[in-house]
Amino acid sequence: MKNTWNEEVFKNIKNDVDARVYSSRLLGKDKSLVLHGGGNTSVKAIEKNLFGEDEEILYVKGSGWDLETIEVEGYAPVKLEHLKRLVELPSLPDPEMVNELVTHMKRASAPTPSVEAILHAIIPYKYVDHTHADAVVTITNTPNGEEKIHQLYGEQVIVVPYVMPGFDLARVCAEQLRDNLTENTTGMVLLNHGIFSFGNSAKQSYDRMIELVQKAEDYLQQQSAWELEVKSVPVSNNLGMEIAGLRKQLSEIAGHPMVVSRFADSETMSFVSRADLGVIANQGPATPDHVIRTKRLPMVGRDLDSYVSEYQNYFTENEPLAKERKTILDSAPRVILDPELGMCTAGRSIKDANIVADIYKHTIRTIQRAELLGGYRALPAKDIFDVEYWDLEQAKLSKAGSSPIFSGEVALVTGAASGIGKACVDSLLARGAAVVGLDINPEIETIYKRADYLGVVCDVTSEDGLRDALEQTANTFGGLDMLVLNAGMFPGGCNVADLKMDDWRKVMTVNLDASFALMSIAHPYLCLAPNGGRVVVIGSKNVPAPGPGAAAYSASKAALNQLARVAALEWGEDNIRINSVHPNAVFDTGIWTEEVLASRAKHYGLTVDEYKTNNILKIEVTSHDVAELVSEMCGPLFAKTTASQVPVDGGNDRVI
Ligand code: ZN
Repeated sequence: MKNTWNEEVFKNIKNDVDARVYSSRLLGKDKSLVLHGGGNTSVKAIEKNLFGEDEEILYVKGSGWDLETIEVEGYAPVKLEHLKRLVELPSLPDPEMVNELVTHMKRASAPTPSVEAILHAIIPYKYVDHTHADAVVTITNTPNGEEKIHQLYGEQVIVVPYVMPGFDLARVCAEQLRDNLTENTTGMVLLNHGIFSFGNSAKQSYDRMIELVQKAEDYLQQQSAWELEVKSVPVSNNLGMEIAGLRKQLSEIAGHPMVVSRFADSETMSFVSRADLGVIANQGPATPDHVIRTKRLPMVGRDLDSYVSEYQNYFTENEPLAKERKTILDSAPRVILDPELGMCTAGRSIKDANIVADIYKHTIRTIQRAELLGGYRALPAKDIFDVEYWDLEQAKLSKAGSSPIFSGEVALVTGAASGIGKACVDSLLARGAAVVGLDINPEIETIYKRADYLGVVCDVTSEDGLRDALEQTANTFGGLDMLVLNAGMFPGGCNVADLKMDDWRKVMTVNLDASFALMSIAHPYLCLAPNGGRVVVIGSKNVPAPGPGAAAYSASKAALNQLARVAALEWGEDNIRINSVHPNAVFDTGIWTEEVLASRAKHYGLTVDEYKTNNILKIEVTSHDVAELVSEMCGPLFAKTTASQVPVDGGNDRVI
């Protein structure tokens, strides 16, 4: 546990809320304290209202903000007096409580205040910090966890038994503070949940948080429950189809496609190879804060049917009025633990799947340390259920809104480092797909730095290279839904009589053979696409209207076109559709430099602009235009179309 306070930076900070932002970010950066939007902080400030009167305002973290990156706008200013009065009420349903918070803010455009706002309000200190520190939660999630906390901290912290976050928790804390707060109290431990610290300055509250959590870490170390043994376990490869099969089933249960990421690092493999995995992983999350992301339990092994039926039992047991409940979450697991696969996490986007993975990696440590401390004990299922199906969480889920059309889906584009291929990557990413770009150019690996993109250096004429790329696709994103066959070459002009066999073969190998190989390697994956597989072939105007001097190119594209038509006939029963675009004169690609353009235009006696728009509509066709059509062909607009060939050329009189 590192105290990262920097007085040099802090001394330039002028006001209370800026100080609040500074130390909140320090907490947010330490992943052993808070993860992905978890935890919250506040500061109480006195400000003048419109009438010139002093008014106490609680600036509390707004929902949707992450402590690591929070800004001043991320704090919701709520009138403190009102919050203090609310806690006097005997009861207040949570949705009404949220309504009170939102209607008593000083700034209408502020985010919704944290549901723990009232709790922050009643703590009689200026600064309040709240985290779900791994070390503290580890201790509380063991037999006699409460006793251990008392022994460890004594008078220093108030210990609050588990109560679900919201109004009831605020009331219980108010009682505890009234009865037990002394001048030696620096924090409050919420059993099975997390820890609060407080102080009169941002630094005091932060220092106290670090000190309290450090004590918990020291304790675990003294009890030999800190260092974890990592056994070396061999990792199996070539499980791509297994993962893709699992993803299809998961997506069916969830009711929409989901991406799946595999993690087989040594720490994870060591955990999943434990003989007692089925017991220790079947206890529940480390803190209720995680349950919405990770679900109540991971799936241990690959028996999805029994996981789903157990999840449904859990639902009906804890919710007698199950049928009347309008929102029943899908029963698909988000974490899969398997001795061979390692850990797989699922989500509607790769961002979600990675958040689940981050959380569960911390859970893996918490579980194992708690085991060393006497045994991991999570909350009873009923308490977890109440959080999972909490009105406020449900409201958040329904507010999430509609997702982009390719959410949870995976596309692979060949020749993706430049031109039409790169434009296709852009268009598919913009529609929410996770995208794998293949190219022989090593820049493919770094042209995008985002979690939903994977660049793979690959010579498409190598079958092993293609197989490996598909394997990587399945390991990273879970499978394949859309394939864009774009890689190709356009050799210099040469008449048939002069064309060398080697040159002919080279064009055929890249433009035709490689596409055939990839189609056949990708086929079993496309069969497992939750919404059906889609292939888009980048053809050419030369298919319907070849030109002199381009024999090898035109013949290769025509053969590819015929291959696509035959595949469309054969793959319809696999719910895979194949469509082609025939672009022409797309000049914003690597091969068309300014000089080449100028010389070609001159050759035809045209200006560069005239040359670029030399078509029926007198309009320039860009890579982006082609890519947008390619993406639409993968979407609902073309759901009932296969084997179509659509020109994207501004109109060409030879094609028409
Ligand atoms: Zn919390």
